[in-house]
Amino acid sequence: MNYERIQSILKSSRNTVCLLGVESSMDSGCFYYHDADGAMDVESEYGYSPEEMFSTIFYNTRTKEFFDFYRDKLLGHMGTPGADLKVLRQMEQDGKLNGIITREVFGLAKRAGCENVIELHGTVLKNRCPHCGKEYTMEYIKNHSGVPQCEVCHATIRPQVCLVGEMLDNATVTRAADLVSQAEVLLVLGCTLKSSLAGQFLKYFNGEQLILIHENEHYTDEKADIICYGKPRDVLPKIYQ
Ligand SMILES: [Zn+2]
Repeated sequence: MNYERIQSILKSSRNTVCLLGVESSMDSGCFYYHDADGAMDVESEYGYSPEEMFSTIFYNTRTKEFFDFYRDKLLGHMGTPGADLKVLRQMEQDGKLNGIITREVFGLAKRAGCENVIELHGTVLKNRCPHCGKEYTMEYIKNHSGVPQCEVCHATIRPQVCLVGEMLDNATVTRAADLVSQAEVLLVLGCTLKSSLAGQFLKYFNGEQLILIHENEHYTDEKADIICYGKPRDVLPKIYQ
């Protein structure tokens, strides 16, 4: 295994950035519907596909059904940050990690205590009234039945997550691309180099070492300088102590 080599790279790097992939949130127990089984379960329970239910159109036209689904499936399956996220927090505290970029919306990295996290698709932890701007906690949405409304102006409170069909926030994407372009080491966790996340940002990386840790071999793995197979939550604690 490459543990010692990776450890020495991570410890001597002056600028490491992490792309945190979807395997990490799946292993943490977060709701996942991007596979056939997950999609079918949702469809048989609600009569709509998860993509349909998580779309802007559905949110606007069937708001109550949207929130029933959202509360049950997303807020009901937020997962628990795993050992990989605790290592990332430790690295950040040691000054060995400049930032984390992720598409997950469950706030896992933030909940693990990481600070510089770019959540490309937003987070269920933030909710805002689109009319007056008042902010609400995730618990407020969770404990509210039906459509959650602003206490001040009674508009529907909008979870600050990116729905299907919505553009990502430009400034956020630019910030993430800048972070990657300045990195000396890029640590890709829990996804292939062909995943949407890596596909979006790999092109900005001009650094020296691309380290990839994920579970199953993939034909694009050879693009990495160093590769470790295994779940990030199992591997990372052995590498960085
Ligand atoms: Zn309001």
